[in-house]
This record gives sequence, C-alpha cells and structure tokens, in this order.
Amino acid sequence: MNRKYRKTVIAGNWKMNMLASEIKPFMEQLKAELPKTRTCEMVLCTPAVMIPAMIKAGKDCKVAAGGQDVSKYAKGAYTGEISASQLADIGAKYCIVGHSERRQYHGEDDMLINAKVKALIDQGIIPIICVGESLEQREMDLTMEYVAYQVKAALSGVDAAKLRRCVIAYEPIWAIGTGKTATAEQAQEVCQGIRAVIRGIYGARPARAVSILYGGSMNAKNAAELLAQPDIDGGLIGGASLKPADFATIIKATDQE
Ligand code: PEP
Repeated sequence: MNRKYRKTVIAGNWKMNMLASEIKPFMEQLKAELPKTRTCEMVLCTPAVMIPAMIKAGKDCKVAAGGQDVSKYAKGAYTGEISASQLADIGAKYCIVGHSERRQYHGEDDMLINAKVKALIDQGIIPIICVGESLEQREMDLTMEYVAYQVKAALSGVDAAKLRRCVIAYEPIWAIGTGKTATAEQAQEVCQGIRAVIRGIYGARPARAVSILYGGSMNAKNAAELLAQPDIDGGLIGGASLKPADFATIIKATDQE
C-alpha cells in the first residue's frame, strides 16, 4: 500500500451467495468486529437485488455497495440484463467487471469488458476491473504479457481523468476459490507490472494514483503480508468476505505502515 498517493480498497465479492435477509445480521456482526477508525474504503459487491438492503444495513459502518456485473447497453430490450444507470439509481458505488468467472462461464471478452467499463464510468460507478492469468499462462511465462493486454484492452478509450475513477484487481485465475494464494512476491511483481503498463499509457502521475488490488484466496491469515507490498492497494475477496470476523480481520490488516 502507499496511502500517500492512493486509496486502499477492501472489496468483498459475495458472488451468488447470501440472502437479503442475512445482510442485517452479517452487518451487525461485522460492525462489532471493525476497528473504530478505518484507513480503507470498504465495499461489498452483492447480487444486484441485494444492493438496497446492503446500503440500508451498511450505512452506519460506511460500507459502499457494489454490483458484480453490468450490461454494456444503456437501456432497451436486453432481458435479464442490468444497466449502469439502474445500478447507479439504486445506489451502487462500485461494480466488478471482467471477473474470471464471467470470462469463463459467460464468454466475456476484452472488448465487451471495455464497453462495460465505459458504461460504468459514464454513470459515475467505479469499475473494479479484474485481470489475471491462468495456470497454463503462468507456466508458459506469459503472465505479464497477458495481463498487460487485458489492462490495455479494458482501458482502451478511457482518458486519464476517467482512469481516476477506476480500480484494477489482479486476480490470478489459479488462486481464485482454490485456497492457493499467490505469494506476496508474485502478487507484488504483477501489480507493479500493471502500474508500469498504466504508466506507459497515461504517464507517472495517473499510474501512481491508481489503486491496484490483489484477489485470489486472500484471507485473515495472509492479508497483512499481501497488503504490505508497495503496489498492492487492497484486496478483492471472495470466500473470506462471507465471514464477518475474517473480513474484519482483513480490513484491520490495512492499518499498517
Ligand atoms: C474472487 O472471486 O474475486 C475471489 C478472489 O475469490 P476467493 O477470495 O474466494 O479466492
């Protein structure tokens, strides 16, 4: 983390878990575990139907609500889709884009992800742009080339002013939901590489200001070491964000120099 130049973000990704009725007890437990002062932005990305309940329950511990996906279209005959303006209208401040589960199970490609990023920025929602390599790509030593391509494609046509409204999440696919975390060195190396890619496109200042998160089996035990890395500005957390005590421990781990 480098709090002098950028904000620290801890974002939970609940995926297709939990019920709206479980949010209040979850938030009560989380609130009891949270430190009085916090040095990070806290976000919970829920299924869209739960966003209003999350905003209501999360108000007094300042949790921002986020979506997990968005349509690239502004409005119209797209049954089952949800637009960026609809997310903004119900109070979403963030939205995950390009999660590997959407790339894998829904065939999302980099062009589509770029369109979604722009749709969110236009509505004032901060996209959390997920990038990351497969195990095969890592073993072939293609990690940085592949991740650099994903970053460039997602940000194509996004100017420097708008980049300030974006968060990048490096999530190696082999570490998501597997219990296999990237080592702090591996995660730092790629997050530093992502910052270098952004520097190449936008210059030093915007690169220094962009928050880059790590995601992939981050948990209460390994968070402090990962968050101590200079280019890791927070976490995108799946499994551990479903457990209030663990999520609170990760948030507490941001309180380090
Ligand atoms: C994720 O889904 O973005 C994620 C990082 O999941 P987990 O923490 O469970 O690996």
